[in-house]
Amino acid sequence: MYDIVVVGAGPVGATAARLSAEAGLSTLLIEEHATIGHPVQCAGLLSSSAFAECEVGHSSVLNTVSGARFVSGRGSELTFDAKETKACVVDRTLLDREMGKAAADAGAEVRLKTRAEWLGPGLLKTRGIRGGEEIGCRICIAADGARSGIARSAGLGRHRLVLGGIQAEIPHECDPRFVELHPDASPDFFGWVIPVSSSRVRVGLAGRADLPARFEAFIRNYAASSIHCVTGAIPLGPLEQTYADRLMICGDAAGLVKPTSGGGIYTGIRSARHAVATAVRAFEVGNTTAEALYTYERLWKADMGRDLALGMQIYQMRCRMTGDDVDHAIRTLSDPEVLKIIVEEGDMDRPGKLIRRLLFRPDLLPLFGRLGIMQLLRSLQ
Ligand SMILES: Cc1cc2nc3c(=O)[nH]c(=O)nc-3n(C[C@H](O)[C@H](O)[C@H](O)COP(=O)(O)OP(=O)(O)OC[C@H]3O[C@@H](n4cnc5c(N)ncnc54)[C@H](O)[C@@H]3O)c2cc1C
Repeated sequence: MYDIVVVGAGPVGATAARLSAEAGLSTLLIEEHATIGHPVQCAGLLSSSAFAECEVGHSSVLNTVSGARFVSGRGSELTFDAKETKACVVDRTLLDREMGKAAADAGAEVRLKTRAEWLGPGLLKTRGIRGGEEIGCRICIAADGARSGIARSAGLGRHRLVLGGIQAEIPHECDPRFVELHPDASPDFFGWVIPVSSSRVRVGLAGRADLPARFEAFIRNYAASSIHCVTGAIPLGPLEQTYADRLMICGDAAGLVKPTSGGGIYTGIRSARHAVATAVRAFEVGNTTAEALYTYERLWKADMGRDLALGMQIYQMRCRMTGDDVDHAIRTLSDPEVLKIIVEEGDMDRPGKLIRRLLFRPDLLPLFGRLGIMQLLRSLQ
């Protein structure tokens, strides 16, 4: 019987396992693949805060960026440059492996090529290189990604909205300081061009429908052979409930992904921290029921619930925008004073502060009115 069994050795599961082992709890980390960090399902753009949350060295960092360029299909562009590192571009395979190694070094037992299923509170069934086994635990932390089988089996439901993503890494000359965002490449999300270096980029997009056709049209602008292709799912919106008796759901498995960017590393790792803190407390008081583990949901909501809810409002607003709206927004936000605010307050992980500053500028009211400001205001209350 383990104190904690973590299912899934992505960045979120590896963090949960490391913190659990560091807290002195007997910990098992289970991963269905034979190796950690493969296949990659990520563009690898991490804000500086997200990278700091990983608590690893810099060996996976391929590039750093200081700004972004928004490009409308109608020709307008908006560029802002903070002139300091705001985010880094990483090799996700290396990052995940380093995080998995940190969990093992902290004392977590790691079982690869082993798939876990939920049998009920405190009991998992595994199939893998050691054959089939039943494994007992005082608490299970499910970090089994966007298609979490554990949450489903435990009756915690499915994600309300799941986007698909496609990306290729290709040779392309670029300014490596800037990420490019192309809203018109995918009308219910956006396309991206992420510089890996001055001569390589990751070109991709996410959305709800027509992905192959949208991607084909987008990548045609870059015309080159890909040496690395990524596809994956991005769940938007948290599960109705992220805990049950002896169970907490973290990261993508819980839908804790930023709806404005599809990024889930920052929010997921934060959720892993809250899950382990809750488990430690639950063991101290000797109560691992759903009633006690409700604290986990309270903690992650207090930490990032408002930003996630606001992000969802922004995402819904974005889905209502036409190509003309995008063009109009880019031209309006190009005002130097507005750009200064974006540089000062912009935070990839926590958009609330910037939105609040922008909402109180009278010159931007017509833009926000056109885009549906009332819903945004409600979520900020
Ligand atoms: C195209 C695309 C681009 C993205 N770009 C970014 C980005 O630039 N920045 C960013 O922050 N986020 C990005 N994301 C999101 C990011 O990849 C995820 O939020 C992040 O990987 C979530 O980490 P996780 O540990 O919760 O899940 P995952 O990384 O998905 O890890 C889950 C692990 O669980 C394992 N697993 C699943 N089921 C079982 C089971 N039953 N038993 C054992 N093991 C199991 C899986 O094999 C996997 O290793 C992107 C996603 C996509 C699809």
